[in-house]
Amino acid sequence: MNHYQPKRLLITGGAGFIGSHFIHDLQKKHPEWFIVNLDKLTYAASLDHLKKLPHPEQHHFVQGDIGDADLVSSLLKKHAIDTIVHFAAESHVDRSIAGPEAFIQTNVLGTFTLLEAARLHWLTHEKRDAQSCRFHHISTDEVFGSLTLNDPAFSESTAYQPRSPYSASKAASDHLVHAYYHTYGLPITLSNCSNNYGPHQHAEKFIPTVIRACLNQTPIPIYGEGKNIRDWLYVDDHCEAIRLILTQGKVGESYNIGGNNEWENKKLAVFICELMDKHAPEHAPHARLITAVTDRKGHDFRYAIDDHKIKTELGFTPVETLHTGMEKVIRHLKAAFF
Ligand code: NAD
Repeated sequence: MNHYQPKRLLITGGAGFIGSHFIHDLQKKHPEWFIVNLDKLTYAASLDHLKKLPHPEQHHFVQGDIGDADLVSSLLKKHAIDTIVHFAAESHVDRSIAGPEAFIQTNVLGTFTLLEAARLHWLTHEKRDAQSCRFHHISTDEVFGSLTLNDPAFSESTAYQPRSPYSASKAASDHLVHAYYHTYGLPITLSNCSNNYGPHQHAEKFIPTVIRACLNQTPIPIYGEGKNIRDWLYVDDHCEAIRLILTQGKVGESYNIGGNNEWENKKLAVFICELMDKHAPEHAPHARLITAVTDRKGHDFRYAIDDHKIKTELGFTPVETLHTGMEKVIRHLKAAFF
């Protein structure tokens, strides 16, 4: 099989949690690839994540909005971009419930602006074929909706049924990406991944919240009874899966990415507390800090990923277990704390 080989990439949202890990990962594995990183630097971003890049000369940061059509077009032209990897998004479900507008602006209209710029630049002006450009869109398993305990896991053919403003905005962007493939022949790939965790994740997300509460000896808030189930994947495993899809995935197709790691929220909190007991035995048992709080509105009960396709077609399996991955996050947060 002929693998796709990007040379000059536009990575959006590369100062965020997953995007910054992806840039580190690419620079280790493909130091010859040149990266333009377009990020608005919202509350969720930090340029500190990019301070220790192995090849800083191959990374060019631009602060800007993916919804700025003139800026995006000029970057594609000026840097002779052949590949877009699109992470930029408003990503926090609770924020989408409190204020959905930014989610529509960035996730829906911003993605549309990127697609349109790519179509005009690559297909209309440069007349590239499918082997000489690529648009990879990063999405989430939340677009598929909510499962009961006994439902089969989400596959690539599961119908979309988003239920929060966040997942609805991501679903809309996924549909646009597929539409640009079917209508205009834009060479796209798309991935829908389960919950990520790892160093540099924003403090408001579930796992950093639990670990920081343990470090601070403050209550660990758990929505409702803590029975909601999520599948967890270590961030660098997600990045490797994206790299595989980008270089070896079939144009026009979606791939589900998961960790085969389904946990009830409360059981996961207890698991983290037990690890924290070993790190700080003087405060054991940390599980005493777990505190129920009012449930999230419309809280999806369960997400689960059927990863058969990416496993069999691209040979992807996660490297980290929840234990090894969580130890890395705890060590990272402890180092920042003390
Ligand atoms: P994040 O919130 O940590 O980072 C998002 C980045 O996008 C930030 O750096 C932010 O400044 C940037 N951004 C936001 N709006 C922008 C705009 N209009 N223009 C340019 N940049 C903008 O998010 P993350 O957790 O790293 O998620 C990255 C992608 O992965 C998102 O598309 C998200 O939907 C998807 N995803 C995340 C998870 C997860 O568990 N975190 C799981 C599956 C999929």
